[in-house]
Amino acid sequence: MSSVVVVSSENLDEKQQSLTTSVVQAADKKVNLLGMSRAELEKFFEDLGEKKFRASQVMKWIHQFFVTDFAEMSNISGKLREKLEKICEIKAPEVVHRNYSKDGTRKWVFRVGEGEGSLVETVLIPAEDKTGARKTLCISSQVGCALDCSFCSTGKQGFQRDLTPAEIIGQLWMANYSYMEDVPVAERERTVTNVVMMGMGEPLLNYDAVLSSMRLMLDDFAYGMSKRRVTLSTSGVVPKIDQLAQDIDVALAISLHAPNDELRNELVPINKKYPLQQLIAACQRYLTKDGNESARRHVTIEYVMLEGVNDHPEHAQQLLKLLKNLPSKINLIPFNPFPHAPYGRSSRNRIIAFQKTLSDAGFVCTIRQTRGDDIDAACGQLVGQVADRTRRAEQWQKKVAQRQEILRTQG
Ligand code: SF4
Repeated sequence: MSSVVVVSSENLDEKQQSLTTSVVQAADKKVNLLGMSRAELEKFFEDLGEKKFRASQVMKWIHQFFVTDFAEMSNISGKLREKLEKICEIKAPEVVHRNYSKDGTRKWVFRVGEGEGSLVETVLIPAEDKTGARKTLCISSQVGCALDCSFCSTGKQGFQRDLTPAEIIGQLWMANYSYMEDVPVAERERTVTNVVMMGMGEPLLNYDAVLSSMRLMLDDFAYGMSKRRVTLSTSGVVPKIDQLAQDIDVALAISLHAPNDELRNELVPINKKYPLQQLIAACQRYLTKDGNESARRHVTIEYVMLEGVNDHPEHAQQLLKLLKNLPSKINLIPFNPFPHAPYGRSSRNRIIAFQKTLSDAGFVCTIRQTRGDDIDAACGQLVGQVADRTRRAEQWQKKVAQRQEILRTQG
């Protein structure tokens, strides 16, 4: 981000004039206000010689009325608008592809750099529940991912880079804006009701940017979302779960996918570093920061159903044992095969039997409805057609061959 030079002159007009000139001269490019937290914006305006409350005014224009043109910010003086126009911008990542499914699912592909590997995807899934209509946005935190979970198409791409706060919150901004672009500014409202940090990347490995973005999601001058409706999903970066517990109150989900270390080491390799016992203990610590209003009443356990791999009755029994002291809700996810995936989707009967074992033991266990198949937006297909920049595709093919061989010999 460009640096801002503060000058100290007693004459306000001269000071502002001088400041503007200094800022313009110091800026190698315009400062993007989109990803700035309230504290950062307040400092920004103070450095400009303006009052702190300008921050909350501008935040509302950006995140509640989806305005990118300073000229439309009618409660800001003409002089300040002019100044902002010169040195700032409000810029979401460029949309290179958008697709809206018949079932209401929406998908965007954003370009966040040069080259075909610099793409991230965001998916919005609508649903009805007892609280009314929900619109849940699945947000990406990194370009690609280093963790290489064996069932995940994003892992196949390798890690490119972390997203900035503007690129993360820009996904939420764009999803809201997509419903409001034809609505007069004064009538615009926030439409997305829930966020899951569950798209491309491991959010806890881009900690600062993700934390800053989630703070904007909860901020009343930005999206004002309920902390129970903002969920961070992790594959299990244990020390960062503890840090998260100190820093913010949001819901936690774990991409578990296996009930024992041997299988999880294969499916979610970070398990070799932070095995299940450590992970479950970290979840328990996360929930102990309690309170009636806390988002931390339970952990959501994500479990992708892979045919013949993790869907046997004994896996359900192992899962019961593993979770017996952890308040949790379990979400079974039918696997969405993608080209060259080494796994298949468990049969409907197998998934229902698995669910019954968990429900009979008293767990709330749901089966995720597969949505957005017609636009390739279902979970696990987030990478789409981006180039394979590593040798992982080759390794993938080997795993497919091995898996097919095992299935063949098992008859
Ligand atoms: S499942 Fe998540 S953590 Fe694992 S490779 Fe995919 S994006 Fe990364």
